[in-house]
Amino acid sequence: MEKPEKTNYCLCCGQTKPAYDYAPGSMVCSLCAMLDSSAIVKLTRDTVKREVAVTEFTAAGKRGARIAKRLALYAGIGKRCTACHNRKPVSEFNACAPQSDGLQPMCKTCHTLWMASRRSGGPAAWHAVRAAMRAASPEGE
Ligand SMILES: [Zn+2]
Ligand SMILES: [Zn+2]
Repeated sequence: MEKPEKTNYCLCCGQTKPAYDYAPGSMVCSLCAMLDSSAIVKLTRDTVKREVAVTEFTAAGKRGARIAKRLALYAGIGKRCTACHNRKPVSEFNACAPQSDGLQPMCKTCHTLWMASRRSGGPAAWHAVRAAMRAASPEGE
């Protein structure tokens, strides 16, 4: 059986080539090493940009799939609001990109109340409003 050939990744063209294609200690393949330095810089930048784009695309794809799964779950039982503890349909929540399900943790009603009560009485006022809503919710505290 043949031994697997040793390969190196060329930072410049982004291709994996056999190790003998590199000058000792060189990060770029012999083909790229023949280019002038400005061409090497440009090609390296393009390669990095392309790889970053691929990584981001895959991450976005995974995130999209995760959100779709969560939304499918909510379609049946609703999403639980972290403030009032009621389960509500997805349409009752504002969008929030950084969240794992793409939605705000608290429902629209609570969000409005949260902003209003914090403005009038600070966090203590909000905590009182929230406690009353939680006590009234079928899921309790
Ligand atoms: Zn190369
Ligand atoms: Zn709520």
